[in-house]
Amino acid sequence: MTEKFRAFWLEETETGVTGAVKEIETEDLPQGEVLVRVRYSDVNYKDGLASIKEGRIVREYPFIPGIDLAGEVVASEDSRFAIGDQVLCTGYGLGVSHFGGYSEQARVPADWLVKLPEGLTLREAMILGTAGFTAGMSVEAILNAGITPENGPILVTGASGGVGSVAVAILAKLGFEVTASSGKEQEWELLKRLGASHTISREEAQTPSKGPLGKGLWSAIVDPVGGAGTGERLKSIRYRGVLALSGLTGGGDFGTSVHPFILRGVTLAGIDSVQCPLPLRLEVWNKLATDWKPESLFEQAVHEVSLEQLPEAFDRILKGQAVGRQLVKVS
Ligand code: NDP
Repeated sequence: MTEKFRAFWLEETETGVTGAVKEIETEDLPQGEVLVRVRYSDVNYKDGLASIKEGRIVREYPFIPGIDLAGEVVASEDSRFAIGDQVLCTGYGLGVSHFGGYSEQARVPADWLVKLPEGLTLREAMILGTAGFTAGMSVEAILNAGITPENGPILVTGASGGVGSVAVAILAKLGFEVTASSGKEQEWELLKRLGASHTISREEAQTPSKGPLGKGLWSAIVDPVGGAGTGERLKSIRYRGVLALSGLTGGGDFGTSVHPFILRGVTLAGIDSVQCPLPLRLEVWNKLATDWKPESLFEQAVHEVSLEQLPEAFDRILKGQAVGRQLVKVS
């Protein structure tokens, strides 16, 4: 039986890519074992890139973007999921090579789904979404290296953005002294309310030091910004500290030397949320639902938008103007 529902539909034009809400049918959806009624999605930097041709995220149009979704199972051909189960999906091919979450219904492979962990609502799961999960993976890498609040302060870059704001809230909840670096001075107060002890400018978080090592300032760094600043930040990590690198809003390349690694035993931890193996995926989601749950973020840094308002939300995130998390109410 086919049913009509709304989805944000991207089409290629002569000048680029254009998107609008359109009515489609179940049979327009791609293959997958589980059909989900999507309640919420969200807007990540990658979704912004997916909305423009130069973003080179989506290969074929027409397309439904949205790299995250949360909702209820309405049909399942997989024994792990039953009708009515609350589920979430982030990463893999969702919203990249497979129709994504900006759609009242989505059909996805069962292997991509995670049951909503106890302690989170569907709405909270999508306030976190890929950005929150990436922040969680970054925190996991830092804790895994044995770093505790006694080792000293942690720097979070791009702190007013999605990954950054969630990382600030989690680390503060865990008792770490957090320094939040943000180019948006008008949001420094918000970052303090999320739990940051100090705020600094983007420039201060990447001040070039002349030698191969700078002053050891940070026990760890959560770095979703990347770019040349990352090379400088590596020099300011304390003995056996960690830099958890997840993003590239500040650029794709950085230079470094062997010195932070061989003289201070610094670890550069790469963070990938897309192909994260299931056991770690479940562990991080469970922590986000319990001990790490960033309540301060849910209360203060959420901007809810509709499917119709997605173009403005993409624009905000691509211009680096989004603050906290943009939640999408889908149905
Ligand atoms: P946001 O746009 O919400 O946050 C990025 C923040 O970076 C901005 O808010 C801004 O913070 C800062 N920023 C923007 N432009 C610049 C610039 N030119 N120089 C320095 N800082 C800048 O994006 P997300 O949090 O969703 O994603 C952040 C990054 O992480 C992206 O590159 C994204 O692709 C990547 N990512 C990677 C994942 C993975 O699996 N590895 C998963 C999720 C995201 P402020 O103004 O406060 O300085």
